[in-house]
Amino acid sequence: MHEWALAESILTAAVQAAEKEHLKTITTIVVGLGELQQIEQDIFEFALEEIMKDQAGLLKQAKIKIKTEESSFVCNNCHHRWTFSDMKKKLNEDEGEAIHFIPEVALVHARCPNCSSPDFTIEKGRGVSILSIKGEK
Ligand SMILES: [Zn+2]
Repeated sequence: MHEWALAESILTAAVQAAEKEHLKTITTIVVGLGELQQIEQDIFEFALEEIMKDQAGLLKQAKIKIKTEESSFVCNNCHHRWTFSDMKKKLNEDEGEAIHFIPEVALVHARCPNCSSPDFTIEKGRGVSILSIKGEK
């Protein structure tokens, strides 16, 4: 049900943003989905479509585009930056899969590829956000 709540809040935010810009219709909403976000993209898209079906007004003609946002990590020790795909190459398949669903596992398994420090921050790739909204006034 997480996906539905998320879809609803994305659409609410999109409508609010469009109202601020005095748009009469929203044509496209581009949603950025962090690759470490723990949601099922299929369900999320389905939820967006279903919620929009019942909407009149601003969202009536809106189309949703989903873009996957690549994750990035930054080492707290040497400030080296790397991505989830870099990290995946070093893990076996099972661990790769686990990380896909449970980002916290990443923190347990991973080390900085540069200095081997386990102390790093997930900088990008966890959130869901609206990247852009197109519409007509
Ligand atoms: Zn490092």
